[in-house]
Parts: sequence; structure tokens; C-alpha cells
Amino acid sequence: MKPVIALVGRPNVGKSTLFNRLTSSRDAIVADFAGLTRDRHYGNGRQGRREYIVIDTGGFEPDAGEGSIYREMAKQTRQAVAESDVVIFVVDARGGISAQDHEIGQYLRRLGKPTILVANKAEGMTQGLQLVEFYELGLGEVIPVSGAHGQGIRTMLDLALEAIPGLPPEDEEEPEIDTSVIRLAVAGRPNVGKSTLINVWLGEERLVAFDLPGTTRDAISVPFERDGQKFELIDTAGLRRKGRVFEAIEKFSVVKTLQAIENAHVVLLLLDAEQGVTDQDAHIAGYILESGRAVVLAINKWDAVDAYQREQVERQIETRLAFLKFASLHLISAKKRQGLGPVWKSIVLAQKSAMRKMTTPVLTRLLLEATAFQAPMRSGMFRPKMRYAHQGGMNPPVIVIHGNSLDKVPDAYKRFLEGRFRKAFDLVGTPLRIEFKTSD
Ligand code: GDP
Ligand code: GDP
Repeated sequence: MKPVIALVGRPNVGKSTLFNRLTSSRDAIVADFAGLTRDRHYGNGRQGRREYIVIDTGGFEPDAGEGSIYREMAKQTRQAVAESDVVIFVVDARGGISAQDHEIGQYLRRLGKPTILVANKAEGMTQGLQLVEFYELGLGEVIPVSGAHGQGIRTMLDLALEAIPGLPPEDEEEPEIDTSVIRLAVAGRPNVGKSTLINVWLGEERLVAFDLPGTTRDAISVPFERDGQKFELIDTAGLRRKGRVFEAIEKFSVVKTLQAIENAHVVLLLLDAEQGVTDQDAHIAGYILESGRAVVLAINKWDAVDAYQREQVERQIETRLAFLKFASLHLISAKKRQGLGPVWKSIVLAQKSAMRKMTTPVLTRLLLEATAFQAPMRSGMFRPKMRYAHQGGMNPPVIVIHGNSLDKVPDAYKRFLEGRFRKAFDLVGTPLRIEFKTSD
């Protein structure tokens, strides 16, 4: 489970700036997907091999006016803080301590959650003196940082991650991915039909339960086997197990959804044909894309809409979820049990694609064939030269291309290469990342 860091503090102290610093490693990748509307409040970050989720709670504050912080911190903020493993409390080193800081400090002290106190905008300050007043907050040491200049970020992050109990040290070996069991998360906003679908599936006779070591009875993690393939349905936000059946609970938790997505191999994103593609759907889709997980799309309640609505929904998928066009799309009715079989096939295919092994000789041959077919354009004095390619990772697959002047390669050419690799390796339902390593 990825640890969750919440950034808390009054407006204008620099939370968004720090958020960008903490998630920058993934920003470059996200920028590669055109058309994705990003929700700035949740992001993935990585330090070495340690990955984490960051929440910028700033955007949730309904207004920046005076008044009790308890009223100001929206329900969402408190939920985000409650679901985080560690809080980074940001104050303004230049502005000094304020009444609001005291209130937030009191709130966090009462909560008793691991908290790191950082004074932002501390660039060029002579150590110590100006920061003394923040010790009043009773949250221990004050860490000077500068989000704008990138100073103290590493220390802040180290302290935050160290404060989380039970987190394995950075140098611990990553466990091998067990590809024999497909970890599946069914994601979607409330009422799209997640629990209906899961109950229909789990009620099928062809489905055999088996014991998976390390899973507990009450956690929502259901191992089962279907047509000789093992699956594990993992805890999806918004669902609770009640006896043998699942039911939807009202609370929708972004953090739980993110963690479920992160822990899955394949995410089945369920949409509601009656509602079309909503902003919340697009946000969840954005998280899935950013996580790099394989994804299958299904529009549920197909039975309940007429021909006109069907056309509308399909058009919305094409425009609003254009960034997921690598995913297969199914039109289903969970209630009427229609169209469900092919969904399983796509889930298995997506998993296979995400775990595909690609050897250096084959990748390099495909690369050279592609460049012979159509060479990348010259950019001013530079002609990008691609030499060889190797696989840089799985789930999602990453192809690393080595050569010269590769920073000049236009996005359109990258998409051309992606198309060629996808076709050659039959990659469906998984993102494919292409990275350039240039030697000049
Ligand atoms: P938020 O409202 O807490 O998310 O704050 P922002 O990240 O939007 O930053 C508020 C303002 O502070 C912006 O004008 C930033 O450019 C500025 N700022 C952020 N970090 C720093 C810093 O490290 N030093 C200085 N001098 N200004 C900063
Ligand atoms: P969840 O919140 O995503 O788990 O959604 P539920 O499974 O609780 O379903 C929400 C509502 O949609 C319930 O009233 C279901 O009966 C209804 N529903 C689910 N699937 C379908 C479907 O395929 N067609 C129609 N017409 N209604 C459905």
C-alpha cells in the first residue's frame, strides 16, 4: 500500500508549489498524454524506489476568509487528512505565524497523526532566528524549505516518510510481481453499478473461491478462479462486504480509490450510460492513467438508454476519455447480465499486455524498421538518431530508446513509434511509455 502524504496549511503558504515538487517525477509522463484534464489535488510521487501519494488539501477550502479553521477545512480536507499516513503542515517563513496557523496546529496536535512542520519560502534566510516563533505550534522541529527554489525538499520528504510507522526502508528489494493471479479493481463513482456487477460475477457458478495466503476474511479481497485463471478482487472504495454480498456505501473516498487502483494490475472502470461521462468519471480515469495500470472500460446500464443516448455516450467517451483510447470498451448491463463475458477476456488481455516481456534485439529491430519507414524530422541543425531500444519496465511496459538529439523528437513521432510497438506486441488495454535517453 502506497503511503499517503497530506499537505496542509492556510492559503498562499506554498502548498501547490510543494505539491508540484513532490510529484514532479511523474509530471513529465503525464504531460505526454494530450487531452488529460488533471486534478491538481492528488498526485503520485517517487523517491528512489519509494512511491507515495500526495494530497494538496488547499483546493478544498471553501473560502480563504477569516473564521474557524474547523469550518473552513471542508469535510473533504478532514477526510483526506484522516486517510493520510503523515501530514506536512506548511507555514510561511516570511509571513510569520498567524491565528490560522495556531488553529490548524491545534487541530493536528489533537489528531495525533505524524506531522512534519515546514516553513516554506525560507530561501536566503539566515538559519534559525526567523523560524523560532513556529516552535510555539508545539509540533516539534521546524524544517526550512523553499518550494520555489527546490531547497530542503529531500529532507522534508525523508522526514515525512520516516515518520510513517511500518514503512519498509528504501533499499528493501521490491517483491517480484506474481503474474499468475490478476489483481482486479472495479472502480467508478457511486451508483454506476459496481456492487451489482460484482455480486452477479461472484454469484456465477463457474466461479471458484480459493484461499490466497495473507488475505483476511473481512478485508475486501476476494480470491477466485474463472476458466483456469486466478483473480483477486481488491478493496474498491465505496464497497463493503455484507455477509456474502457486496453493497455500496455512500462515502466516496478518493484516497481509497487511488490506493485500490495502485494495488491493482487491471482496473475495470465502470461508467453509467444514463449519466454519461461526468467530471468525476474523467478524474477517476485520469488517476488510472497516471497510475500506469491496465484498464478496461465498461458502460453499464446499457439496457436503460435509447439509441440517441447511446450515441451521445459513445461520443462523450471519444472526446472526454480520449486519453484512454488504448483501452477496450464494453457496453454492458450488469442487472440484465448482458455483455459480461467479453469483459473477462479484455481483463485477461490487458493483464497480459501490461506484463509483456520485450527483448532488446526485437525492440531494436522494430525501432530500426520504424525509422527506416519514416525517419524523425530534422530539427534545425539536429537530426535525431535512434540507435537501440530496451525494455525499461513492466506494468506498464516502458520502452527506452537510446540515441542522439532525441530531445528534439516531436510528440507526433513518439506516437508513431508507440503505434508500431503496440501493433507488434499486440498491446491492448495498457499504457505504453516511451522514454528517450540521449547521449548528446
Ligand atoms: P498555496 O495556496 O498554499 O497552494 O500556495 P501556492 O503554492 O499557490 O503559493 C502561493 C504564493 O507563494 C505563490 O505566489 C508562489 O509563487 C509563492 N511561493 C511558493 N513557494 C515559495 C517559496 O519557496 N519562496 C517564495 N519566495 N515564494 C514562494
Ligand atoms: P454502486 O454504487 O456503483 O455499487 O452501484 P449499485 O450496484 O449499488 O447500483 C446502483 C443502482 O443502479 C441500483 O439501483 C442498481 O439496481 C442499478 N443498476 C445497476 N446495474 C444496472 C444495469 O445494468 N441496468 C440498470 N437499468 N440499472 C442498474
